[in-house]
Amino acid sequence: MIIVLLGPPGTGKGTQAAAVKTRFQVPHISTGDILRRNLAEGTPLGLKAKGYMEAGELVPDGLVLDLVAERLKEPDCSGGFLLVGFPRTSVQAEALDKLLAASASPIDHVVLLEVPDGTVVDRLSGRRVCKSCGAVWHATFNPPPAGMVCPKCSGDIYQRADDSSEAVLNRLQVYARQTGPLIGYYDAKGLIRRVDGSKSPQEVEAAIFASLA
Ligand code: AMP
Repeated sequence: MIIVLLGPPGTGKGTQAAAVKTRFQVPHISTGDILRRNLAEGTPLGLKAKGYMEAGELVPDGLVLDLVAERLKEPDCSGGFLLVGFPRTSVQAEALDKLLAASASPIDHVVLLEVPDGTVVDRLSGRRVCKSCGAVWHATFNPPPAGMVCPKCSGDIYQRADDSSEAVLNRLQVYARQTGPLIGYYDAKGLIRRVDGSKSPQEVEAAIFASLA
């Protein structure tokens, strides 16, 4: 099963990816997570991506396509995978189709999580994340522990640079301009499964599973 999880930032893609991954027993490939890991480790890729990521801009297609092409060659992807935060541009979507055509395994579903922009800004500007395991809190609705140390893995809890209000507004514009056209691209192929991402995580999870049935 090959699934793409599409949607603006702050729609809960990371949270839902964990549920889909468990249910379908496929690896979860998030280009944002891979890029952040490279940033934290100071790799050449991380250094190239840093400025774009902190400003909420997209990293150039070539860099992202290389890392995805490499990741999809790993043996754990042979039975399918879940892509999160990729593709994000028409160039990436077309390159992915070419990669998949070579292995004769097309995309099965593109789940589109939809959330109003105002909700995205509230969610992301309050988001706090564990640097090590990716666990998520919200400054107002689900405050992190006072010491900002993750109770699950003892990692540091922080606010991502691209979750500042300014970067979030930019990310929404970038999404509308560069990623929005992918909805039509996948709709034309009959692959889009629309899910209301503004409900509770449990309700969204149930709606995703229903859309994949
Ligand atoms: P995310 O965690 O998916 O919100 O991604 C965080 C940041 O990583 C984005 O704002 C981009 O700067 C970069 N990024 C992640 N995935 C991609 C992609 N597919 N294409 C370009 N840039 C990406």
